[in-house]
Amino acid sequence: MSFSGIIVAGGSGSRAGPGPAKQWRPVAGKPMLRWSVEALLNAGAKALVVVADPEARNELAAALAGLGGWSFAPGGATRALSVQSGLAALADQPTDQPVLVHDAARPFLTAATVASVLSALADAEGVVPALPVADTLKRGEANAPLTTTSRDNLWRAQTPQAFRRDRLLAAYAAWNGPGEPTDDAQVVEANGGRVVIAPGDPLLMKLTFPEDFAMAERLAGAARVTRIGQGFDAHRWGPGETVWLCGVAIAHDETLIGHSDADAGLHALTDAILGAIGEGDIGDHFPPTDPQWKGASSDRFLKHAVDLVRARGGVLINVDVTLICERPKIKPHRQAMRERLAAILDLPLDRVSVKATTTEGMGFPGRGEGLAAQAVVAVETPA
Ligand code: MG
Repeated sequence: MSFSGIIVAGGSGSRAGPGPAKQWRPVAGKPMLRWSVEALLNAGAKALVVVADPEARNELAAALAGLGGWSFAPGGATRALSVQSGLAALADQPTDQPVLVHDAARPFLTAATVASVLSALADAEGVVPALPVADTLKRGEANAPLTTTSRDNLWRAQTPQAFRRDRLLAAYAAWNGPGEPTDDAQVVEANGGRVVIAPGDPLLMKLTFPEDFAMAERLAGAARVTRIGQGFDAHRWGPGETVWLCGVAIAHDETLIGHSDADAGLHALTDAILGAIGEGDIGDHFPPTDPQWKGASSDRFLKHAVDLVRARGGVLINVDVTLICERPKIKPHRQAMRERLAAILDLPLDRVSVKATTTEGMGFPGRGEGLAAQAVVAVETPA
């Protein structure tokens, strides 16, 4: 389902202790805000607005360096004004498009939660991921006699909360308190909207206090695994004028022969990604016997492999491709290849490597019979 996202990253987070505002602080080596931005982009957000303090543009740029697909909107004096600033920044999106409003302080957002709130929105005007309260609830001053409050029908509301954009805009326009709303569902509820609950996720906890960050460090490490994949491919030289390597067309006095465009670099890389997630090989997904792949541009195969990684909540960490041939000379084209791969994979350039070697005249690449390519990738996925 097509949707857009707003991430509210405006607070100063003073309860998290001294230091930078908490949205810029690292959680398992990555700025807290970046976790949510990557999660919503990987879940397929068509547009994503990050609402932050205009004074913090440098922190924002550093936190999201190398990531595309998001835009900035200036934060307001209150959370409610910040959300409305984000809604205004989505004016070019369809008015009835679902919008997910998410707090940057909840970094461990999964594609499953995104899918579940979007699905529940089909029959509601607002959706809140929430968990039942499990602890016994007490009310009272710290040193005074306590009373016990029933926890029946009490929920801990989380984000992302889902609404149709026009419905949330109308509810904010009508909001007149009392006080400041602490989430968006409250605004739609007050406006008579039907808000329902979707399953929450314990990992979506809000990081508020210093001890929350310490727990998040442990969870982040325990909940993700790094996987390695490797791929190899070779194609035979034949008559032609252009050869495709790593998604770049190079003028040459021969071409590589194959069913598709014979881009051995992209094929090795696709196999490496499939290998990292145990999804077989390129031939399983795109059989060479299938006429629809005749002459196909191999970036389609690579994108498919990346989509499979994202579908399981994973991210590519880095890729490293080696091309093995005597000719053509690869070096003049290496930077263009890296940039093309970075664009296809949506990775920063420093996580994409293309190398080349000859075999000093030995073997089939050395005799000019064919070109070989190998690739290694690292992928991080939920454990
Ligand atoms: Mg091949």
